[in-house]
Amino acid sequence: MSAQLLDGKLISEQIITEVRAKVDARVAAGRRAPALAVVLVGDDPASAVYVRNKKTACERAGFRSLSFEYPASLTEAELLALVRKLNDDPEVDGILVQLPLPKHINADRVIETINPHKDVDGFHPYNFGRLALKMPLLRPCTPHGVMVMLEKTGVDLVGKDAVVIGASNIVGRPAALELLMARATVTVCHSKTRDLAGKVAAADIVVAGVGIPNFVKGDWIKPGAIVIDVGINRLENGKLCGDVEFEVAKQRASWITPVPGGVGPMTIALLMQNTLDANIHLYP
Ligand code: NAP
Repeated sequence: MSAQLLDGKLISEQIITEVRAKVDARVAAGRRAPALAVVLVGDDPASAVYVRNKKTACERAGFRSLSFEYPASLTEAELLALVRKLNDDPEVDGILVQLPLPKHINADRVIETINPHKDVDGFHPYNFGRLALKMPLLRPCTPHGVMVMLEKTGVDLVGKDAVVIGASNIVGRPAALELLMARATVTVCHSKTRDLAGKVAAADIVVAGVGIPNFVKGDWIKPGAIVIDVGINRLENGKLCGDVEFEVAKQRASWITPVPGGVGPMTIALLMQNTLDANIHLYP
C-alpha cells in the first residue's frame, strides 16, 4: 500500500484564495484591508526566509504588510516599546514577532505584551488558555494547519488514538490540545518518553514535531495510520527533510504529509486566516 499525499501547498492555496475573497468583499464594502505587522530581530537565515514567505502570502491574501527589521543588538525595552505601539495602532490587526529572538530578549515577555486580539501566532497565554478550555479564538497556526489537513482526509477523528511526538509550546503541546478537542485519545511524547516505537506502532494518527531528520522510523508506523510530519530540517546537502522516514512510512500509512510542501505552507495560510479573523474581531 502506498499512502495518499496530503498536499499542503494545494490546501494552503485554497485557504488563501478563500481569505482573499473575503478581504475583497470587505474592501468593496468600504473597509480597509487587514494589516499584519511582522517583526524580525537579528539575522537568522531561516527566520529571514519565513518572514519573506509571510510577506508574500500577505500580498496574495490582499493584506497590507508592515515590516519591522532590526539588528540583533535591539534591546528588549525597545522591542517591547514597538509591540506596545503596534498594540495601540488602529491600522494594525496582527502582530507577529518572529522567533527565535536573540538570547538577551525574553520571548515570553514579548509574547505576553502583544494584545491577545492581535496575537495572530496564537502564542499568548490568553489564546493558549482558550484553546486548552475548548473555546479557541486565535489558534496557534501550525497545529491548526495540522487539524485542517486531518480534516481533508475525511477520517473521523473521534476516539482515534493519536500520538504527538514533541511537546513544545508552538507545535506538540497545542497540537495535543487540538486533537483532544477533536475527541481523539492523545498521547504526548517527549525526550523522556519510554518505548516511543511501541507508542507510535499503536497510533491511528502520528504527529511528529521533534526537529531531528528521519527520527521516526517508517517501520514504526501502524499500517493505515495517518502521518503528519511537522519537522523541517535542513540536511548537509541543503535539502529539507521531515522528522519521519518518509519513503518507508509512506508504504504503511494511509495518508502522509510531504516535507517540504506539507505542514509548512499550511502554517502560513492559517496565519493569514488568523489575521483576517483578528481584523474582523477588531472591526466587525
Ligand atoms: P523544539 O522546541 O526543539 O521541541 C522539540 C520537542 O521534541 C521537545 O518537546 C522535545 O522533548 C522533543 N524531543 C526531542 N528529542 C526527542 C526524542 N529523542 N524523543 C522524543 N521527543 C523528543 O522544536 P519545535 O519548535 O517544536 O519544532 C519541532 C520541529 O518542527 C522542527 O523541525 C521545526 O523546524 C518544525 N516546525 C515546523 C513548523 C511548520 O510550519 N511546519 C513550525 C514550527 C516548527 P522535551 O520537551 O523533552 O525537550
